[in-house]
Amino acid sequence: MPNCIFCKIINGEIPCSKVYEDEKVLAFNDINPEAPIHVLVIPKQHIESVLDLNQDNISITVDIFNAINKIAKELGIDKDGFRVVANTGVNGNQTVAHLHYHILGGRSLQWPPG
Ligand code: AMP
Ligand code: ZN
Repeated sequence: MPNCIFCKIINGEIPCSKVYEDEKVLAFNDINPEAPIHVLVIPKQHIESVLDLNQDNISITVDIFNAINKIAKELGIDKDGFRVVANTGVNGNQTVAHLHYHILGGRSLQWPPG
């Protein structure tokens, strides 16, 4: 997608602070962290949101959650816990239209999130 900022990160046009990469998934530090650990996990394939997952592409969620599992252990937040969030649409406050999962950790997080 030509004007997608996360596709530009995937193809190297825009730099990122990479945390994890495999054939199908990329993870990098959020540029505006809301917690001591704030990582974004994205599919390399352009999928706009949770609502664009379907039978043909849903297997990417397995790859994404495998990556989240590895990243949480690698960053040492597995013992204390963390949060995984996929903001979706206007009410979800999704600002980038490329599916992404936030990993938030390193501090106690409030609930409800507001
Ligand atoms: P959301 O609001 O759920 O769509 O999340 C988008 C996230 O992308 C925000 O937390 C932004 O801080 C983050 N973000 C936007 N541009 C970049 C970038 N170039 N590198 C890293 N994170 C970014
Ligand atoms: Zn994209």
